[in-house]
Amino acid sequence: MLVLRHIRQLITCAGAAHRGRSLSGVAAIVAGAVAAAGVRIVFAGRDADLPPAIAAAADAQVIDAARYSVVPGFVDAHTHAMFAGDRRDELRRRLAGATYPEIAAAGGGIVATVAATRAASDRDLVEATRRRLDEMLACGTTTAEIKSGYGLDVESELKMLRAIRTLDASHPIDIVATFLGAHEIPLEYRTRRHDYVRLVIDEMLPRVADERLAEWCDVFCETNVFTPDESHRILEAGLRRGLNARIHADELGPSGGSLVAAAVGARSADHLIFVPEDGIRAMGDANVIATLLPSAAFYLKLGRFAPARALIDAGVPVALATDVNPGGGFSPSMPFAMTLACFAMGMTFEESLAAATINGARSLDRADTIGSLEAGKLMDAVLIAGDPIDLIRVGAASIGGVIKRGRRMSIAGPEDPAYP
Ligand SMILES: [Zn+2]
Repeated sequence: MLVLRHIRQLITCAGAAHRGRSLSGVAAIVAGAVAAAGVRIVFAGRDADLPPAIAAAADAQVIDAARYSVVPGFVDAHTHAMFAGDRRDELRRRLAGATYPEIAAAGGGIVATVAATRAASDRDLVEATRRRLDEMLACGTTTAEIKSGYGLDVESELKMLRAIRTLDASHPIDIVATFLGAHEIPLEYRTRRHDYVRLVIDEMLPRVADERLAEWCDVFCETNVFTPDESHRILEAGLRRGLNARIHADELGPSGGSLVAAAVGARSADHLIFVPEDGIRAMGDANVIATLLPSAAFYLKLGRFAPARALIDAGVPVALATDVNPGGGFSPSMPFAMTLACFAMGMTFEESLAAATINGARSLDRADTIGSLEAGKLMDAVLIAGDPIDLIRVGAASIGGVIKRGRRMSIAGPEDPAYP
């Protein structure tokens, strides 16, 4: 039994309405308590209401959390955290003024990551990704989605998904796997894109489904990548194989992805920087969650962000994620994404917290087990030195502890003796 008592401010996110203005109803409990038996929460509420039997349990490890606030562990619902190689040189060239087409023409961009990922051993892929997951855990992330999509051939896509499964079994962060064979048209298919769409539908998807390697199927629906019609066909094929749908939509222009999401009944449409009015309405009607990735818009210097307020006002539930990736997802931090949500997208702090926790869980179909601190759910929590809103002090050491499945995690990395 793990018991946190006298918590400075406890925000459980329990019962947080997941859409509309009432999302703001994420109230802090002053002097709170949370208790877990094993991996599951048995109590969350006012310390004064903590049942005496829990407080006095013989096996109780009681932590006085008077200096800390406690919020649910963050759910990062969109990452490309698995890849080989790095693109730091490309980043420096970009900052010196090179355009993405110039970088791509010089062999950079996603093509470079695909080449490195195809060449990497299983073990190297797992270990490179494990280090990124350690960083995410230290930033308070306790569940993360990871996509394939840097293999782009049958065996390399399967290699990525098997490596994701290996990490799920061996890293404290719970991982949700997404098949993203339709991330890009690989170089060798550029003159025959229809053959690549066929490869995704007829060869990759059946193998992924047979081995149960992914829960979700995703498509990058964008001009010069996959068309709305191709995206629709791929997501429908995934649904027929038992993979639920999510989609990269309206990131670099109004690509039609939000409308595809509504048409196929996708759980989530992601990015949405250029989502048009009719896309917002369609998402609201079809109950599609908007998973917004402001860190990507920031690092790609797109000069604009997704219209979070318009989405929320239209009744679309908003989740946040980091988009960790080698080309523009440089921050593993959900608090950084929350900060941009507040300061660049006009969200309230409470909205950003619900978006980073319970709505992330809803985006991944995990809201019955994670995303809020309430009896019966997993004991995944973040301890904040100060008030919850101190999370926006990006770079300051505001995260004072992370609890995953009832265990206190070392967040200092492998050198720490308490490393899991
Ligand atoms: Zn993405």
